[in-house]
Amino acid sequence: MEVSRHLFTSRAGGVSAGDWASLNLRRNCGDDPANVRENFRRVGEMIGCSRFVFLSQQHTDRILHVDARDAVTDIFQPLREADGLITRTPELALMVFSADCVPILLEGDGVISAVHAGWRGTVKGIAAKAVREMECPPERIRAWIGPSIGVCCYQVGNEVREAMRKCLGREAEPFIDLDKVDLKGFNRRLLELSGVKNIEVSPICTMCSHEAYWSHRYTAGKRGVQAGVIVLNGREERA
Ligand SMILES: [Zn+2]
Repeated sequence: MEVSRHLFTSRAGGVSAGDWASLNLRRNCGDDPANVRENFRRVGEMIGCSRFVFLSQQHTDRILHVDARDAVTDIFQPLREADGLITRTPELALMVFSADCVPILLEGDGVISAVHAGWRGTVKGIAAKAVREMECPPERIRAWIGPSIGVCCYQVGNEVREAMRKCLGREAEPFIDLDKVDLKGFNRRLLELSGVKNIEVSPICTMCSHEAYWSHRYTAGKRGVQAGVIVLNGREERA
């Protein structure tokens, strides 16, 4: 049996309209709350799990270790602030949101993780931190880096390039272009340097594919979010 199951959502398959069309998972953004609720329900159906944990993402390297007691009971409840989740609880869906930022899903021996890595979290090394905190031999870990802004579109200022160099030194250079950077590639390298070998990287750039995915940059912020979702397979344990 597979250890886990996962998916990356796109804009398709939801009920929201206008700027939020259609599978918007962003709360409190002007979208009809009833539609957002229905969208979450649909993602639950897609992944075959109705218990979710998600966060108020803050571009930190903070990772929470969660179990069934942390399951969100109402999607509009106040959320804990962090950017990564780890669990050993089966049938509990870990969810991270993004709209250009890099969603990373990880599976190890009886443990899974979901990470939100914008450039700030990336250079804080949140991907490597997740690998360490999974407490599983890295060569046993599988990683999926989801749709996010590509090096084709991710134009950045000097502070980003400098932060990347500070994080990885000369190892950062292959991911730094004249005015653009490769955030997916950089996260892949962070995982590789942590010992993870089995890594799949989505070729999709959210800005190039802004009709299929939400792109913060393309929409200048007027957008919903997509999600990366991962569930550890097994028998559901009651909280
Ligand atoms: Zn692009």
